[in-house]
Amino acid sequence: MDLLTIVVPCFNEESSVEIFFKEIEKTLTEINFEIIYVNDGSKDNTLVNIKKITKSNSNVKYISFSRNFGKESALYAGLKNSKGDLVCVMDVDLQDPPELLPQMIESIETEDYDIVATRRVTRAGEPKIRSLFARLFYKIFNKISKIDLVDGARDYRLMTRQVVDSLLELEEYNRFSKGLFQWTGYETKWIEYENIERISGETSWSFFGLISYSIEGIIAFTTVPLSISTFFGIIISFIAFILIIFIVLKNLLYSDPVAGWASTICIILLLGGIQLFSIGILGKYLEKTYIEIKNRPLYIIKESNIDNKNS
Ligand code: UDP
Ligand code: MG
Repeated sequence: MDLLTIVVPCFNEESSVEIFFKEIEKTLTEINFEIIYVNDGSKDNTLVNIKKITKSNSNVKYISFSRNFGKESALYAGLKNSKGDLVCVMDVDLQDPPELLPQMIESIETEDYDIVATRRVTRAGEPKIRSLFARLFYKIFNKISKIDLVDGARDYRLMTRQVVDSLLELEEYNRFSKGLFQWTGYETKWIEYENIERISGETSWSFFGLISYSIEGIIAFTTVPLSISTFFGIIISFIAFILIIFIVLKNLLYSDPVAGWASTICIILLLGGIQLFSIGILGKYLEKTYIEIKNRPLYIIKESNIDNKNS
């Protein structure tokens, strides 16, 4: 390996950027590396602090967005501007332990893997309800999509240039990285570690943020939910057909007086609910198609110290 690029998305991380750099420097003493900090529209002094580091270290690059475009866009921008023959993406909050890097590099160089990925085997320090929903999400996702996500997988990954180039070809707007990595299909080695809490600041994920991210993931990688209405449609039509035959026969044989207002309302409500639910699912896919078709850029770079930056 000639050069290792480390891509680091940062959103309001003023207190972490420098500690992160120090840790990397300490760990990678014998490795030629560059760091690309992607400032994703931070509102604090993240960019100022990054620039401080770049002054005395020529191997530190930065890209600064015009606003917050999200971690997925930041990762894409970093990968696009990476020059290394091995590229690593990691969080700046040191939840992704740099000590694993040498071992990860060795796995690619000596064991012929294309990607070395990490997964945390514990969810210590995380609210119980969040862990429960996370587990449930992985179960459902893996059941209904063609790709398999690994429970607890982090975005902390080291990959070869070939993998990076493949990822860059996926230019979709709705980026669900965990799925995209898996989708490329390269040989992945998994390294496990215990969960580490972030050094400072707060996670940018709210509970509902995670739920909506999960829905995005499902929509991006499977169309099974679209079949739900067809499924309900077939079942309900079948039941209705049997009921009609039953009622017609009953009327012919016993001529029944009108009754059952309550049950009629219940059935109308049930059917209305199922219809709205199905339209909602349809709407979600339409929404994603609409956004995708506008073909807007994934991010806008306001400033950077990389020559010929690819925006
Ligand atoms: N991040 C980003 N843009 C965002 C949100 C987060 O670039 O809109 C960065 C953040 O600075 C961090 C990484 O993405 O380096 C992971 O974020 P966080 O630690 O909040 O997520 P968690 O580790 O809790 O999954
Ligand atoms: Mg984190």
